[in-house]
Formats: sequence, C-alpha cells, structure tokens
Amino acid sequence: MALLHCGNLTIEGESSSAVATYMRVKELDLIFDLGRCPINFIGTQHVFISHFHLDHYFGLPIYISQRWLANIRPGNIYVPAEGMDELQRILNQIATLDSGRVWNYHLTAVQAGDAIQFRKNLVAHVLPCCHTVPSIGYLICEVRDKLKPEFHNLQGHEIAELRRAGTKVTTQIELPLIAYLGDTHKVPIDAHPLLKQCKILICECTFIKPEHRKRAEETMHLHLDILPTLLETFESEHIVLCHFSRRYTPEIILEHISSMLSPLDRPRVQLFI
Ligand SMILES: [Zn+2]
Ligand SMILES: [Zn+2]
Repeated sequence: MALLHCGNLTIEGESSSAVATYMRVKELDLIFDLGRCPINFIGTQHVFISHFHLDHYFGLPIYISQRWLANIRPGNIYVPAEGMDELQRILNQIATLDSGRVWNYHLTAVQAGDAIQFRKNLVAHVLPCCHTVPSIGYLICEVRDKLKPEFHNLQGHEIAELRRAGTKVTTQIELPLIAYLGDTHKVPIDAHPLLKQCKILICECTFIKPEHRKRAEETMHLHLDILPTLLETFESEHIVLCHFSRRYTPEIILEHISSMLSPLDRPRVQLFI
C-alpha cells in the first residue's frame, strides 16, 4: 500500500487505472473512492465515491458488510446521484446472496455544487468532473470561527461581554485542505473559489507518454500534459498524481515526470504509486 506524507495529513491506499483506487486520510476520518477495501479501512466513518467504475467502488460491499458484522454503526457513504438507486439494488442483492439479509448502510446522493458538512469542522464541496460516466470530485475544507474585523481591537473581556449580550462576534471561514478529483479529462479549476488554494490536490494522471494523448481523449482521462497547468494554476503545496495506466512501470512514470519538473517544482509533486 502507498503512504504519502503531505504536511500534517497522510494519504494511504492504492491507485492504478482499471485495477483499483482507494485512499484514506486517517486524520480526517475519510476515504476517497473504494475500489477495494483493506480491512484497516473498515473503521473509517466517511467514504466519498467519485464514480461508478468498478475500480472506484467495488470495495463498498466489504466495507458495509464488515461494519455490519462487527456491529459498527453504518458509515456515511457519499455517491454520485446518477446511479445511486442501481447501487442500492446491487448492494441489497449481494447482501441477500451473502447472508440472506439486507445490510444496514447509509448512502447519500450528491451532485456537483453540493456542500456537505460531514463533521462539525469539515465540509465537502462536490466538484464536477468529466468522464465517460458521471464523475465528481471533492474539496474538503476546514470550517473555523474567526473574529469579525470590527472587534479586532477589543480586549478579551469586552468580547466576552458582547458574547454574553448575544452579539455574534465571529464569522465562519473555510480553509481548503485537500481536493480529490475523480476520473476526468478536465480539471474543474473554476468550480469552487477555494479550489486553487487547496493545500493538497490529488489528481488522476492516467496517461503520460506523448503517443497516448489520443487514448486519453478517447477514454476521457487526463494526460501528463496537464502538469504545467496544475503547477501554475494551483497554489497547492502538494500535488499528488495517481491512477496511472498499468502499461507504465514506476520507473517510466518517475522518469517522465521528473524530466518535466524544475528543481523548484520538484518537491511539490508526489506520485501515488
Ligand atoms: Zn478509474
Ligand atoms: Zn473511470
């Protein structure tokens, strides 16, 4: 399993095009996609699915059934609205085949533009992606209370007094922590005003060689050609590339990507291989 340290967050899992993509950010208690479900992912509460290609959601029956068997309350699973009913039918059929009973689980249909406050201080903004089936991404932001500027010059006890009198002294701000794009052939740069500032961007990069540009277009995936745009447009400290085609060895991937990076950009780019 791959394990990347990106500032104070760690990303663990695997990602290989058409095989399986699943990534856990333990510190945020969430998983992006679940193409397979390692047993240590079972306890994670929130699962964000990008699209219904097998390599991105086929771990769901394991995740759901293992929690059900262990008497852990159902996880919160967010899935694209298009296809959710079908998924529910499939899960129920697998459950019937498996145990003769229906598992207890909790699916939420989401679509681009939605904002889901999934923990007290965390919100997921749903991003539009562009793929051969409906696909979405997620921008996770931390929600913080910030003192309103008009109260900046006040002493602590004065602020406390205002609070007691019922004055709202704070306003909520969002800090973009991490963005995960589902399979896509376009980066939804303008989909959310905070996206460009996300600390970590996880982006698919299925094809890397020049002769595979056409293949990238046909299968609606990104090509390594996008990297200079990502480096220029995003302020992200960490750009994590994933979902490489199986036709490339890790050595070829490393060689191609290293040759494109300036010494300044090199520390920003990490490969999930
Ligand atoms: Zn995929
Ligand atoms: Zn796909």
